[in-house]
Amino acid sequence: MAEKTLILLKPDAIQRGLLGSIISRFERKGFKIVGMKMLQMSGELAKEHYAHLLDKPFYPDLEKFVTSHPLVAMVAEGKDAVEVIRLIVGPTNASKAPAGTIRGDFSNSTSRNVIHASDSRETAEKEVKRFFRDDELFSYRFSSSYYLRASDE
Ligand code: UDP
Ligand code: MG
Repeated sequence: MAEKTLILLKPDAIQRGLLGSIISRFERKGFKIVGMKMLQMSGELAKEHYAHLLDKPFYPDLEKFVTSHPLVAMVAEGKDAVEVIRLIVGPTNASKAPAGTIRGDFSNSTSRNVIHASDSRETAEKEVKRFFRDDELFSYRFSSSYYLRASDE
């Protein structure tokens, strides 16, 4: 089965009206969106999702920011989805993110960097389950798949 990864369009992406511009980048690259919903993160969910950052000085601001407003959670599927989507997203510090990446084009901040994407296959498996039940994920074929990739790729 093709690889899946979790994407969060953080509250700043919604507040700034960037949802469509960001989602279209994954569509045009050929990734399949197999799950999508809007939710507001609880403090508990933020602590679980950002457990690796709990002891950082910026954590209180991070939790306040991600729980303050709704966000959009998505699961994208495709070849090497985790690695390729991290490349499309760009580095954490958006000020230094290359032009052409989502963070490079839409943010100039480390804390308000519009998007989250899983950083490894192991993390992706956990993160997809953290935000989506099995029956919220869909399996379907793109009728255009012949034009996206050769059958042996
Ligand atoms: N973050 C922050 N200040 C920092 C580093 C990170 O506010 O100095 C926030 C930022 O929203 C970032 C998130 O914490 O996206 C998760 O940090 P991580 O190091 O996992 O970066 P990412 O995987 O999002 O690139
Ligand atoms: Mg991370």
